Amino acid sequence: MTKRLYYDSSEMHEFDSVVEAVIPPSPEQARPAVILRETAFYPTSGGQVHDTGWLTLDGARLRVTEVADAEHGRIVHYLEAPPKLPVAGAAVHGSIDAERRRDHMQQHTGQHVLSAAFVELYQMPTVSFHMGEDYCSIDLATPSVSSEQVVAAEKRANQIVFEDRPVRVRYVSRAEAEKLGLRKLPPAERDELRLIEVADFDLSACGGTHVGSSGQIGSILLRKTEKVRQGTRVEFVCGNRAVRMARRDYGALSGAAALFSAQLWDVPEQIRKSIEESKVLRKQKDDALEQLAELMALAALNAESETNGRKIIVRVFSDRDISFAKLFAQKVTRAGTPVGAIALVASTVEPPGLVFAQAGSAADMGALLKQVLSSVGGRGGGSRDFAQGGVPAGSKINLEQLLRGAAGTIGA
Ligand SMILES: [Zn+2]
Repeated sequence: MTKRLYYDSSEMHEFDSVVEAVIPPSPEQARPAVILRETAFYPTSGGQVHDTGWLTLDGARLRVTEVADAEHGRIVHYLEAPPKLPVAGAAVHGSIDAERRRDHMQQHTGQHVLSAAFVELYQMPTVSFHMGEDYCSIDLATPSVSSEQVVAAEKRANQIVFEDRPVRVRYVSRAEAEKLGLRKLPPAERDELRLIEVADFDLSACGGTHVGSSGQIGSILLRKTEKVRQGTRVEFVCGNRAVRMARRDYGALSGAAALFSAQLWDVPEQIRKSIEESKVLRKQKDDALEQLAELMALAALNAESETNGRKIIVRVFSDRDISFAKLFAQKVTRAGTPVGAIALVASTVEPPGLVFAQAGSAADMGALLKQVLSSVGGRGGGSRDFAQGGVPAGSKINLEQLLRGAAGTIGA
């Protein structure tokens, strides 16, 4: 069983120990690992992520990249492949990445305070805690949390931070703990429990690392909430993370405000206006295109003479896309009746495409398009009245010629 030095001092970043066992790399675990007689490295557990740092022995510095709990209460330190593996019995000096540890202590103690605030205000117990690289979250056993409740819990939690209450560690028997009214009693597997107390506010059993007084949490900032299977997830950040996150938010928001030449707090209103404006403009553009297609269709029909009781309109657009070509073809067939009308239309705007449409004639557009496309390696199809397809992108096919040829076969 590894002696856990962090139980009694969260501030211990340097320690001396002895290598108890070495686990060489294996097919299942590519990284070598060592087990020490005692360690101040925290292994991932209880929602808190592991420490990183260095082990120094025989003048060599070995990087500890991950720390995990193993069987029989042992702690495994995974190493970045060292040139030479240490040997059992060697004296070793451990150094923990202090900034990372400090951050974890802030997040973890902040979690205790926040969980207790949700219980105090709304009787919402925390069922799980997650610490990520960017933010942390707790899952509350409640179907929903309102934004007013978020604000109130954040306010209460920060009040406890500002009061700088002592955070104490003590050990009690399970029987004693049951009488103390803990916020959360861990599963019955140990006789002795490690209790973390935020003076006169929260008492819970926990094996993690915590700051010495609530003021060191710095601040607690609540972020979004979302529904999850076991209740409601509340994201939060503490201490330096809260400052970093607020700085990032400010950067994004002030960037948006500069684009609108507006104040920060006017950004949502400016975006709302902008979305409304683009909706109106899009509608105006669609209406204008529809009118343009109709006028162009009428002009084309007027200019074309009737043969065999119908008009055949051939048109290639080089400055309008396939959806406009389709609109134009529809307008031709609609305006062309009661006299029959056939529209053989293409667009050369990438991706180039063809639209064949007819009304009031016996020609089969689907069959005609298939025949035309098969000669140039294109794909498409459709019904007797309407067919659509594409030619290979970047191909040098002369679409005008292709359409004229198709028109010729109808005429025959
Ligand atoms: Zn804890």
